[in-house]
Amino acid sequence: MTDVSVTVPFLDVLAATQELETQVLEAVERVVRSGWYLLGDELAAFEREFATFTNAKHAVGVGNGLDAIVLALQALGIGPGDEVLVPSNTFIATWLGVARTGAIPVGVEPIDGEWNIDPDRLEAAITSRTRAIVPVHLYGQPADLKAVLSIAERQGLVVVEDAAQAHGASYADRRIGSHGHAVAWSFYPGKNLGAFGDGGAVTTNDANIADRVRALGNYGSSKKYLHDFAGTNSRLDEIQAAALRVKLRYLDSWNARRRIVAERYTQELAGIPGLSLPRMLPGREHVWHLYVVDHELRDQLQQHLATRGIQTLVHYPIPPHLSGAFASLGLVEGAFPIAERAARTHLSLPMGPHLSGQHITRVIDACRSFRP
Ligand SMILES: *Cc1c(COP(=O)(O)O)cnc(C)c1O
Repeated sequence: MTDVSVTVPFLDVLAATQELETQVLEAVERVVRSGWYLLGDELAAFEREFATFTNAKHAVGVGNGLDAIVLALQALGIGPGDEVLVPSNTFIATWLGVARTGAIPVGVEPIDGEWNIDPDRLEAAITSRTRAIVPVHLYGQPADLKAVLSIAERQGLVVVEDAAQAHGASYADRRIGSHGHAVAWSFYPGKNLGAFGDGGAVTTNDANIADRVRALGNYGSSKKYLHDFAGTNSRLDEIQAAALRVKLRYLDSWNARRRIVAERYTQELAGIPGLSLPRMLPGREHVWHLYVVDHELRDQLQQHLATRGIQTLVHYPIPPHLSGAFASLGLVEGAFPIAERAARTHLSLPMGPHLSGQHITRVIDACRSFRP
């Protein structure tokens, strides 16, 4: 790519921090001065507040989003010998989370143009070893949970939602957080609710699942020095929890700002030949973690925008089944054509609560001037 400096960044994380700087620093200072840094009042308060926000009875803070997937699956008894259905087009963490339990991730294609797991393809992928489904609310739009949950119920499977991109999204007028048996969250800094480092959580309406996740992430211990199972160390620390409490109060208004960006893109990018825009599905509230367009000449479009100082990203250039990490599954090109095509044609435009109106205009003008 030609070396033009970025003037429209993909996501301005620093601008988000600066808007809340005083309150965040106050929260961090409170923790530092307290002398208590793990498993304390800030975590307990954040867990209560995040559970309320997500309409779940319980929230358990963990170390990151990947661990949230692993611990939620383990709490539901998933392990070696099991198969878990996952979207063929997702961030590799969804597949890695399954693999880390010892289970085998089994890819299922998305609905072309909607990009979430296709319920009509789930049943064909179920075998006698299938134990769970992990739908991902990709790009911030909830998957078809009604269909997924009814198949799961009929087939005796559990559902762990990967909600790492969907903080604040709704399905059937209820916030994501308790539709499935458990819901995994990431607070990676670039997510809609992002920490100042790594963080994650599991939400659920089931107290047993919450207790197990909590124990698994704390050395398999629910009481100090009593270790009922071989757990790990995966905890959300007090500084992150205190900062997340501040940011949680802004999540709805920041998601509303993302929606305004998305509405402008959707109106003003309509009708460009060869460019497909995200489809909004009924009964769901999209929180626009990413605004992903689709173009056959994606690399040229990305280059065209880059020469105008506009930073875009590709989510994701290599589907999990073609990554070296999953070479042992023996899946080759052609195994998941929809995911493979998306990897060649998807392009994520700048998106975030701090993208200015002028910058949105520049992205739109640059897309409109693309003449391949
Ligand atoms: C970010 C993300 C994760 C992993 O979260 P980390 O906190 O980075 O471990 C998992 N799944 C999806 C879909 C993600 O976007």
